[in-house]
Amino acid sequence: MAFADDFVLLEEEERRVPNTLAAVEGFFRARGMEVNPRKSVGLCVRGYEGRSIPRVQPVFRIGGQWIRPIKAMDSFRYLGHQVGSFGVKRPNLYALQMMLERVHRAPLKPDQKLSVLRQYLIPRLLYGFQNPGVTGGLLTAADRLIKRFVKRVLHFNIHTPDAVIHAAARYGGLGVYCLRSGVPFTFYRRLDRLGREGDPVIRAVMASPRVARLVSRIRQLAGDVPPDQVWKERLHAGQMTAGLRSASGDPASSAWLRARPHGWSGRDFVRAVQLRTENLPVVGVPYNPQPARQCRGCHQRIESLSHVLQGCPVTHGMRIRRHDEICRKVARHVAASGMAVEWEPHVRARDGALYKPDLVIHTEGVILVVDVQVSWESVNRTMSEVWDLKRRVYDQQNFREAAARRWPGGCFRFCPLILGARGFWPRCNQVTEDLLRIPGHLKASCVNSVLKWGSSLHSAFMRTVWA
Ligand SMILES: [Zn+2]
Repeated sequence: MAFADDFVLLEEEERRVPNTLAAVEGFFRARGMEVNPRKSVGLCVRGYEGRSIPRVQPVFRIGGQWIRPIKAMDSFRYLGHQVGSFGVKRPNLYALQMMLERVHRAPLKPDQKLSVLRQYLIPRLLYGFQNPGVTGGLLTAADRLIKRFVKRVLHFNIHTPDAVIHAAARYGGLGVYCLRSGVPFTFYRRLDRLGREGDPVIRAVMASPRVARLVSRIRQLAGDVPPDQVWKERLHAGQMTAGLRSASGDPASSAWLRARPHGWSGRDFVRAVQLRTENLPVVGVPYNPQPARQCRGCHQRIESLSHVLQGCPVTHGMRIRRHDEICRKVARHVAASGMAVEWEPHVRARDGALYKPDLVIHTEGVILVVDVQVSWESVNRTMSEVWDLKRRVYDQQNFREAAARRWPGGCFRFCPLILGARGFWPRCNQVTEDLLRIPGHLKASCVNSVLKWGSSLHSAFMRTVWA
């Protein structure tokens, strides 16, 4: 059985091995290759009273040198698995624990540690865990080690739901692979595909009771729903995270998770992740007793993260600056693409009402009325509803009349721009995006601004209430 430069030689009887080895050596020598005796092992098992007993003395030679025998407690590495005298060994968590510890102690920034985990460490485990000895308990224990690592690196609260860590970034999670749900699913698919192969030997092996038992066990471990879907549903069903349902989707919302934005420190990254996952400390959380949840800034409402960032009078001034920064970014882009921009024009209606849209943009006979809003991702109101409410502020008779007097002959389009306060660029912006020709990097830049401002708003709030 050969796979690239790894190969296994099987013989029924010990006495035939030297001849076969000599033939193999001859085969390779004729092709300018050699078998390395130091990298070879011999496993020779004898049956004794119904038990198999491996030999402890070296019995085989390659190129005149003895090769190491595999004893009862020994094992060797073949195609990524540890193999001993009883077959493939069950993976153990010691190596994972060591690797996580080493990454944690390495002089890396938190986002780099997270990248190492996601892109190198976990992928390295996947093959070894697709092993006949794997169990649900083992995978769960491995996940527990990984979650503990993530929580340490990002300074998460212990109550942080697993879905936040495991759900894909496009749904609002951190996209850390879950071994318990992922490995059996992949393993089962591989076994299933093998079972459909035309090769008669593989078909016979797959039909053997031992393999059939393994396949049915792995199938049970895997369940029916793809892991990606499982975690998405859990995230969107969670009490703290349900609001992400209408916000997730655009890749701009998670670009910063893959690569720390220019100018961000490691701490900025951690604070942004904490904002996204509601890990920034506030007292208005379910595990605090009711009286202790009151806002320490205004004493009016429950001190939830959405109140601190979106409603509390203490942070009002910074909220305006957050909003203005997004407007400036969009205005700069629009002006650079050759459209004329009016910044906060005042439009007075006949009934005295004053309208101040953020930007009014003139382009090819069309006048775009743009209003920017940073909104909390909530279950009570989807982002599309927020978008539509904002549109209706301007898309109505009173404003249309006033605007027609201000810009005679203009054809108006009303396009709000909504950003999720936890750094999301929602899908409902599509109309606006198309009209303003907003590129991906501008979306990401707006998202990053919201995250950075969210973190600053929270810090400012904490400074005020502590003072
Ligand atoms: Zn308050």
